[in-house]
Amino acid sequence: MQRLLKYTTAGLAIMANLLFFSCNSKQSTKTTNTKTSNTKKAIATPVFNGDSAYQYVANQVNFGPRVPNTDEHAACATYLADELKRFGADVIVQEADVVAFDNTVLKAKNIIGQFNPEQNNRLLLFAHWDTRPFADYDKDPAIRNKPIDGANDGGSGVGVLLEIARQIGKSGHPLGIDIIFFDAEDYGQPAHINLPQKDHTWCLGSQYWGQNPHRDNYTARYGILLDMVGAPNALFYQERYSIQFAPDLVKKVWNKAYDLGYGNHFPFELGGMITDDHVYVNGLRNIPCIDIIQYDPSSEQSFGSYWHTHDDTMEFIDKNTLKAVGQTVLEVIYSEN
Ligand SMILES: [Zn+2]
Repeated sequence: MQRLLKYTTAGLAIMANLLFFSCNSKQSTKTTNTKTSNTKKAIATPVFNGDSAYQYVANQVNFGPRVPNTDEHAACATYLADELKRFGADVIVQEADVVAFDNTVLKAKNIIGQFNPEQNNRLLLFAHWDTRPFADYDKDPAIRNKPIDGANDGGSGVGVLLEIARQIGKSGHPLGIDIIFFDAEDYGQPAHINLPQKDHTWCLGSQYWGQNPHRDNYTARYGILLDMVGAPNALFYQERYSIQFAPDLVKKVWNKAYDLGYGNHFPFELGGMITDDHVYVNGLRNIPCIDIIQYDPSSEQSFGSYWHTHDDTMEFIDKNTLKAVGQTVLEVIYSEN
């Protein structure tokens, strides 16, 4: 996601004038039957397993950096689609050519797992799965053009959602649940290369999906984005676009975290205004979405000192933080019917 916008109207302008790049698309659909559709009775909230989520993060990192147009990226895409299928989701891999800040054409893959696809009443959970091709904030200039592991920034949100998918596959759910792994979120214009500033160079996968959803007129009751949810003692302040788009959902999630004893991770405090995938899902699909994203007001970039550096490794992934976020989101979606 893009560096913090200082609550200017600039951010709002983003909403007004989305849609800037050409694209073409292809969809492949493989279906498996889901066993969750006819369960209307209240279902007990499953127990999120932090160790399992941690392993899903490690599995992604073990592929190497997941930069679009690379073999590692393609291999990890197959792994993610297969895992969602294994948990009982109907999987669509939406392929799209999107154009990056330097006019590189990225072969993006948005990976969509649908539970109870026949249901109209749907909830949306999403995260980006690609990793940044640059380490623009690394202390060592010599390695700034080397792609990062993206354990937290790219791996952690997906790891938590895979564990949630596993739990939904086991327990069922009365509603339709969509889990989307957006691509090309982190290929935005780098800070360490002096180029004329371009708009909308981040979140290219969600920008594409927002205009070309996997189902015509796709909508959902609300959406929850997870980004950088794995660092030790991470704090998730209330992000300002989220407050603007979906204040009730912010309240619901932060109250739930507090009730579960995770208030130490979810302070009732305002954070930054962050251009992230939720901005485009809100803007293009009119789905009220929030962003659960680490915020560190003491660090220069506001996201933690590892952000967009080669310190973003498995060393800095904590099972307890994954558990706090995962169990909170599970409790929220299982409180819905
Ligand atoms: Zn990033």
